[in-house]
Amino acid sequence: MDKKGILIIGAGGVSTVATVKSAMNIDTFEKITLASRTLSKCEHIKNIVKEKTGVDIDVKQLDADNTDEIIKLIKELNPKVVLNVALPYQDLTIMDACSATDTHYIDTANYEHPDEAKFEYKLQWERNDNFESRGLTALLGSGFDPGVTGVFVKYIEENYLDTIEYIDIMDCNAGDHGYKFATNFNPEINLREVSANGRYWENGQWIETTPLEIRVDWDYPEVGVKASYLLYHEELESLAKNVKGLKRIRFFMTFGDSYISHMNCLQNVGMLGIEPVEHKGMMITPIEFLKTLLPDPASLGSRTKGLTNIGCVCEGLKDGVRKKFYIYNVCDHEACYRETASQAVSYTTGVPAMIGTKLVYNGKWNLRGARNVEEFASQDYMDELMTQGLPWKVIEMGI
Ligand code: NDP
Repeated sequence: MDKKGILIIGAGGVSTVATVKSAMNIDTFEKITLASRTLSKCEHIKNIVKEKTGVDIDVKQLDADNTDEIIKLIKELNPKVVLNVALPYQDLTIMDACSATDTHYIDTANYEHPDEAKFEYKLQWERNDNFESRGLTALLGSGFDPGVTGVFVKYIEENYLDTIEYIDIMDCNAGDHGYKFATNFNPEINLREVSANGRYWENGQWIETTPLEIRVDWDYPEVGVKASYLLYHEELESLAKNVKGLKRIRFFMTFGDSYISHMNCLQNVGMLGIEPVEHKGMMITPIEFLKTLLPDPASLGSRTKGLTNIGCVCEGLKDGVRKKFYIYNVCDHEACYRETASQAVSYTTGVPAMIGTKLVYNGKWNLRGARNVEEFASQDYMDELMTQGLPWKVIEMGI
């Protein structure tokens, strides 16, 4: 029987957007099933999808930590592509279930072990042969960053510069949700990322910084000047490998003073810890308990106002002349909420997750193996961004 339809795994904020947007593209996807650990969350998204698009989707309960359980569900549904928008902890189990069932795989975040605050592509790239030998694609990191940022770099390389020597990825969320402290996506993943040491790549070497050590005040188009801090981010690893002639790549993200002072305080008292501690005879993991206390990111949508601006500043040579281009997208939290019942951080991830899935599903992106987005030709993805809600601009900057 021919493989048909998509299986989306995970039912959080990013999934809400990816599922609504997939339903808006039902002519391509034919059939959508959403599976996650908590069935009621799938049913909640199913209702949003019906309200926003009129499309009916199927829902299933699934523990995606269990490869055999995923294989069983894939065999039952026979989808052509699985989109993983659960957590980075499930990347390997879902990848293994996909290669075992001849199913294409897409995700938005690089594998992390729950007990170690460290992420890298190694274990996912090691699965390249499992996909390549079966004529399958595993598209790694098709969110915004990673994801669109890699496609942006590729687009500049294909259209504006002969070689890119310097890349700064600039990620600004100027949205205000009215809480003193909350994270815009999964708190555990977000806080682990921000509280870790920073790192950037220069002249073939990784240079480590202490958390939030390097700050620049960057003028984001349509948003204004915002304090931006250097972080390690996963696309640095793949772009340092895939952009020929690159001399330096860095990643900056904006944080307000309130966010930083809360995070420092939580870190100082041990609330960001990932090791279990004993509390009244029970073992609890501090950062998991903190997640229970903080607002659910999915609930921020209706309260968040303001813009995001995420883009890449690429400097290099064109016909021997040094040039610098800034390519970016601006997104409005309230517009995202009206369209998909989710705020812009989920939106800017969920839309590219759907686009990557669409291009693999319809065969336009058909490189085989475990690949990052910048390994594919950019034009189809850039066209989809324009029409699916994430329009972009390129401006030339002075040197
Ligand atoms: P959420 O925490 O809102 O949602 C995660 C979902 O995964 C929840 O529904 C959760 O279920 C489900 N899940 C967790 N464990 C399992 C499991 N073992 N089996 C089945 N389902 C499971 O996260 P977000 O929507 O904010 O983020 C989703 C992904 O997107 C993450 O990997 C994140 O890192 C990534 N991301 C990528 C970005 C990018 O630009 N590339 C930006 C932002 C996020 P339950 O609720 O029952 O626990």
